[in-house]
Amino acid sequence: MVNGKYAVALIGYGGMGHWHASLLSDFDRIFLYGIYDIDEAKMVEARQQGYHTYPSFDAVLEDEKVDVLLLAVPNDWHKPYAVKALQAGKNVISEKPVTLSSADLQEMIDAADKSGKLFTVHQNRRWDEDYLTMKKIYEEGLLGDVFSIESRVHGSRGIPGDWRKEKIHGGGMMLDWGVHLLDQMLQFVPEKVSKVYAKMHHVTNEEVDDGFRMIMTFESGKTALVEVGTSNFINMPRWYMQGVNGTALIQDFGSDAEIVNIESWDNSDAVPIKTAAGLTKTMAPRTDDTIKRTVYPHVHADIRDFYSNITAVLDGKEKQLIRLDEVMRVMRLMEAAFRSDELEQVVDFE
Ligand code: NAD
Repeated sequence: MVNGKYAVALIGYGGMGHWHASLLSDFDRIFLYGIYDIDEAKMVEARQQGYHTYPSFDAVLEDEKVDVLLLAVPNDWHKPYAVKALQAGKNVISEKPVTLSSADLQEMIDAADKSGKLFTVHQNRRWDEDYLTMKKIYEEGLLGDVFSIESRVHGSRGIPGDWRKEKIHGGGMMLDWGVHLLDQMLQFVPEKVSKVYAKMHHVTNEEVDDGFRMIMTFESGKTALVEVGTSNFINMPRWYMQGVNGTALIQDFGSDAEIVNIESWDNSDAVPIKTAAGLTKTMAPRTDDTIKRTVYPHVHADIRDFYSNITAVLDGKEKQLIRLDEVMRVMRLMEAAFRSDELEQVVDFE
């Protein structure tokens, strides 16, 4: 601790490291004290910004002032650093994905259990406002019984050209974005997942997936489609959910939801539409007299709650919000998706 504040040492001062540095500047009880990065240019920058820097990872562990190690290094480094830090008696926050396999994660959990220190993961997209909005619509039953949920993120820049395109570093979009969307979906629907089918895409990269499409079937029979794409030059909506009485759609991160509810199943308004090759009444759009349209304002969230919780856990006042059994379940679900892709078939899950 330094001046009564929990001192964080950040390992990896890249894109996400900078994001954490900015976020941690805003708390009374926890702050960013030191930084270690293998890139000397990053260390020069950190020193110029007034942070303490270290000559090696071991030097961080030896610094008694450091309470928490925050790992924002490429994915393959999370496990070795976390295990070593826990063994040295430090608390650890790892960036997502926690690691590359459930076997690796078990080693990390064992190290945490043995040390009795905090070990958690920065699953920050639990604070995504679009996700929280859709979850609230689901929980409030605004669509009646929900039978289908679709969650997508689409980009058009291919797989990033850095370590994310290499398997050895834990690259690929399943481990990058899939881990967020699957974590959200498991929080969203409090049911067992019985079946999983997934198809990995390799449009811009052979070595790792640059996107995927996955269908999960929950115990009740409802399905969730989870999709990540990096070759989508036209985006589909971020969320699309269907219940027996209505449909909800969220276009983009943080947008309000559009809800359309059925008010009357009377089909007398259905005027057949003519297509070039035929006629359809079934697919005729509804007129406003049988439906109700609502704009459902998006929920507000505060990402700083993540670090408020970390502080409260260290104070012994709260339990960690991102639990290790949840992190393990997501890791196993990603493994089931890879297995399904390899076998080209539906696999059982829970
Ligand atoms: P990055 O490449 O921008 O930064 C990684 C940094 O780690 C670089 O500065 C690099 O020099 C340093 N580094 C590499 N190997 C190291 C080692 N062995 N020891 C010390 N430093 C090392 O990557 P990034 O985008 O910042 O991603 C870092 C982590 O953050 C990844 O696990 C990634 O999945 C995660 N991330 C999370 C989110 C989120 O929203 N939660 C967003 C982006 C990235």
